[in-house]
Amino acid sequence: MFEFQITAQSGRARTATFATPHGAVQTPMFMPVGTQGTVKGISPQELTEIGSQIVLANTYHLLLRPGPELVAVHGGLPGFTAYPGPFLTDSGGFQVMSLGHMRRITEEGVTFKSHLDGSSVYLSPERSVEVQQALGADIIMAFDECPPYPAERDYIQASLERTVRWLERCLTFKSRDDQALFAIVQGGIHSDLRQQSLDATLPFSTPGFAIGGLAVGEGKAEMYAAVEYTAARLPADKPRYLMGVGHPEDLVAGIALGVDMFDCVYPTRTGRFGYALTDDGRLNMNSSAPRTSLEPIDPDCDCYACRHYTRAYLAHLLRAEEMLAPRMLSLHNLRYLHRLVERAREAIRVGRYAEWALSWAARYFKGKPKTDEMSGVPAWFARSVTDDV
Ligand SMILES: [Zn+2]
Repeated sequence: MFEFQITAQSGRARTATFATPHGAVQTPMFMPVGTQGTVKGISPQELTEIGSQIVLANTYHLLLRPGPELVAVHGGLPGFTAYPGPFLTDSGGFQVMSLGHMRRITEEGVTFKSHLDGSSVYLSPERSVEVQQALGADIIMAFDECPPYPAERDYIQASLERTVRWLERCLTFKSRDDQALFAIVQGGIHSDLRQQSLDATLPFSTPGFAIGGLAVGEGKAEMYAAVEYTAARLPADKPRYLMGVGHPEDLVAGIALGVDMFDCVYPTRTGRFGYALTDDGRLNMNSSAPRTSLEPIDPDCDCYACRHYTRAYLAHLLRAEEMLAPRMLSLHNLRYLHRLVERAREAIRVGRYAEWALSWAARYFKGKPKTDEMSGVPAWFARSVTDDV
């Protein structure tokens, strides 16, 4: 169980098969976010059809409502949600920091007020694992602290040291052996702090490792320098998960640096706002051009929306505030990211990842500001994709 078998490599990018109790998944992969135990507006049947593999659920939200006991009565998330594949739950730490009010962090744990009803809730490494065991995901995450950006260097250091002590408590408490607990490497954008976190975290030899604390407001150049530094020092034979990151350009750059797993609310959130992801960048379906276009969103896409609907029809649904519009745009955007990683896997298999990534990016970034004059793509992207170590 949880065997991670690399099947092809191209530069630092790799493809692999990762075995979980609810089936084997292919990496690199994008994981849709089902915050409340549902990917907003998309049924489990649709998720399966568009090639979703692992679905992410949020411990913080499910702890507050409906509570882990009710999910456990259903046999965990697969029974509760009817999504038959593997799940991943986060630890709740990140949401406590970003959504919880009046939080108080001590060595023991975090007390905060629920954003739903103001009641006082306590979360600790032990409680987080207890809740995640009741939710029953195949992959669970260590309870960590994700410092805000910017944060004082001393604070980041103290926080990452506490995160290591919390990791040890999570592993001591954990009792289910059909769940893989991933450790999280912190350290912000500082290489020496990333190294300190790596040195303290890697000896726990967890079945996978996450790169945390990024995409919280720092620039892309700083973020990808930290991803590059960290990914290169994580064990080659374990999955690497870049948490909370999932714009198309992030997937293509992250995969180049050896990242295997991504998650983000972006495709469904931007879909609900009326935007469609394409190889030419993000298409605004609220603008005037789509209203008379008889083209599908993306002629190369095989999702239900692209096989059946014109842009004009979807733009009409959007203006009429019909619920099918955000549903179909979310479905398309998820399929776009799944297809993007499928194309990435194929490029890795034939040993031409950097070449494919640059050609994808030349079209994606065309006409966008801040592109490097030489390559036509942003400098951080070109560096991530082409700098072989
Ligand atoms: Zn589509």
